[in-house]
Amino acid sequence: MSAHPNREELFDLYALGVLEGDELADFGAHIATCDSCAYKLAEAQGRIALLSFAAPPAQPSPGVKESLMRQLSASADGRTLDVEEPHLPHTGFRAGWWNAIFAPAAAALALATILLWLSNNHLNNEIQRQQANLQQLKQQTEQTNAILELVSARDTISVPLAPSPEAKGVTAHVLYNARLGKMFYSDTLSVAPPDKSFQLWLVPASGNPISAGILTPEPGVGSRLVATMPPGIAAKAFAVTLEPAGGSPQPTGSKVLVGPVS
Ligand SMILES: [Zn+2]
Repeated sequence: MSAHPNREELFDLYALGVLEGDELADFGAHIATCDSCAYKLAEAQGRIALLSFAAPPAQPSPGVKESLMRQLSASADGRTLDVEEPHLPHTGFRAGWWNAIFAPAAAALALATILLWLSNNHLNNEIQRQQANLQQLKQQTEQTNAILELVSARDTISVPLAPSPEAKGVTAHVLYNARLGKMFYSDTLSVAPPDKSFQLWLVPASGNPISAGILTPEPGVGSRLVATMPPGIAAKAFAVTLEPAGGSPQPTGSKVLVGPVS
């Protein structure tokens, strides 16, 4: 009796009908004389049949994917890919019902498709997750750097904003550097009424107010905003107005907070 197959995936490959040459001949000869290997082959056939139906719990032996990929790249190289001929086992186990339904070539294609889909899907999800993480880290780093740069620059001005009677008790503060075109703002505002947005403005020494962005206060915390402005704009004042949701190109609503530059 010849030796047992030395690699587990040979059973799956044989069941798929993609074994070739000497490996195919040796395997076929051995299976005919070895009950335990014939039994393992029957198991492999069951596994492949389940995979054809995309049943999730079934797993092919490790190495099957690599072998399939080798065969596929061989065929891409112009060599023949021998999956047309079903290599049915020459044992009493060959009468498996699934053989009649699925030609091994179809099973091989189904398995390859499922394996590729699984690994692709997994990789895509992982890449998306990492990209989101990276984007978030990048934003946090940029904001931290902007604040550090503002705080450490000697020509940064610090402007407190006074609340209107309606916003009594709210405190707000702007750090602004005209040379760097950077602004850091924080307040203790509550969430804006429905269909309204708080909007922060830089009022230049000359010309129209420039929007520094929409404020999105968190309950009990207030809002923070790091804004980038066109550099070189001397500020006369900073103001927060209540605008229609999403903000306005120019201030239209009542002033909630105002801070003149002294
Ligand atoms: Zn054996």
